Amino acid sequence: MDTEAFREWSHRAADWGADYRASLASRPVRAQVAPGAVAGMIAAAPPETAEPMEAIFADFERIVPDAMTHWQHPRFFAYFPANAAPAAVVAEQLAGVMAAQCMLWQTSPAATELEIRMVDWLRQAVGLPEVFEGVLQDTASSATLCAVLTMRERALDWSGNRDGLTGHPALRVYASSRTHSSVDKALWIAGLGQRNLVKIPTDRNLAMDVDALRAAIAADRERGLLPAGVVVNVGGTSVGATDDVRAVCEAASEADLYTHVDAAWAGSAMICPEFRTLWQGVELADSIVFNPHKWLGTPMECSAHFVREPETLVKTLAIQPEYLKTHGKDGVINFSEWSVQLGRRFRALKVWFLLRAYGLEGLRARIRGHVRLARQLAARLSAEPDFEIVTAPVLSLFSFRYTPGRNHTDLDSLNLRLVNAINDDGRIYLTQTEHDGRLVIRFVAGQFDTRPEDIDIAFEAICAVARAL
Ligand SMILES: *Cc1c(COP(=O)(O)O)cnc(C)c1O
Repeated sequence: MDTEAFREWSHRAADWGADYRASLASRPVRAQVAPGAVAGMIAAAPPETAEPMEAIFADFERIVPDAMTHWQHPRFFAYFPANAAPAAVVAEQLAGVMAAQCMLWQTSPAATELEIRMVDWLRQAVGLPEVFEGVLQDTASSATLCAVLTMRERALDWSGNRDGLTGHPALRVYASSRTHSSVDKALWIAGLGQRNLVKIPTDRNLAMDVDALRAAIAADRERGLLPAGVVVNVGGTSVGATDDVRAVCEAASEADLYTHVDAAWAGSAMICPEFRTLWQGVELADSIVFNPHKWLGTPMECSAHFVREPETLVKTLAIQPEYLKTHGKDGVINFSEWSVQLGRRFRALKVWFLLRAYGLEGLRARIRGHVRLARQLAARLSAEPDFEIVTAPVLSLFSFRYTPGRNHTDLDSLNLRLVNAINDDGRIYLTQTEHDGRLVIRFVAGQFDTRPEDIDIAFEAICAVARAL
């Protein structure tokens, strides 16, 4: 492809993108395809000879968009949002065209230095003290893995990477029973084992029982095991379960344990000072992650990982073979030493465009709007005789059930049928979860462009589909 053809196809792609975004509200939110349908339309073997771009692009338009679930749809109320604000998408196009490899300062100085600044902008935006520095990881799962590896190395006096894990008592990590599965996976990958993730029960407020945490740590020490760290939950995925960050960090610090706060979703809302009570005490943590790629508006992947002492993270993850040493550049930051992967994308550019194009006030207005809209919908549903709110809104997430009649025997299967019927209907997209043994339907407002009318449509769709079951 020569320069002129590249120019033309880039324009075509940009035009397609603008039309796509304009078409979103009239598309069904969740893909309406059967498994295997797309694979059946793709050639089974790669082409031996070049094909014209016209044909490739036409196939893209024919096959892909209708078989996508539209995360940028204003009526996407499932999972958590994965917002891609248009200004940040433009930055992603620029980063893509440079296709930089940002592992070391010298392989992309602008990317490294912009990343240092953007992590600090995000730190200020969510109100963390200056002592925190950080890195943009790909996902919260990676940040949590890095934190668990740091817990491991710190507890083993930095010998684990060198000597492996044999010959030590089992290391123990503590988290509430309502933390995300990425914590379980981090223990698997770190070689610590599922059974050494100690799940602490939660209280009435869905927060970790801190007395039970203290007791578990003491009991493990008694048995000769090696407590290493605590993962703190802020805005859990299922129904927004949140620990008392201050109390957990204080208990962890009494026991000299490393703490990692998982605020993957809720962290974006901390740009609004009035919501910061949710993670009160967070300044006591050693490590914190939140995902600008969820609620804030940067396209996937962008996870802000803050650490109180970068040295402990770098001591855990830096590996420097001769060919990676950047001679004469000592004192510069090489972000590959702060993460699992070596090669890394230019993530800071989309953060820079996002924060400048909307301003913190613009982003706060969106997040406040989502919280308000979710509360309004919860209030409207709870006023209906045949719906009940199961968990009250945490920021913009609540859960509910359809409960027609008093003696309905199988509300779980009824609600599962309801969520499937709502998603087949296509006007909105919701997901279910299990809460205290019951199947409940989650509602999350948070898509960047959700408007009040979209919440009206959600209310009508939920009620109408339920009553037609
Ligand atoms: C989404 C989420 C994660 C996982 O985030 P990824 O960036 O997809 O790895 C972890 N914890 C919580 C609480 C989440 O909501």
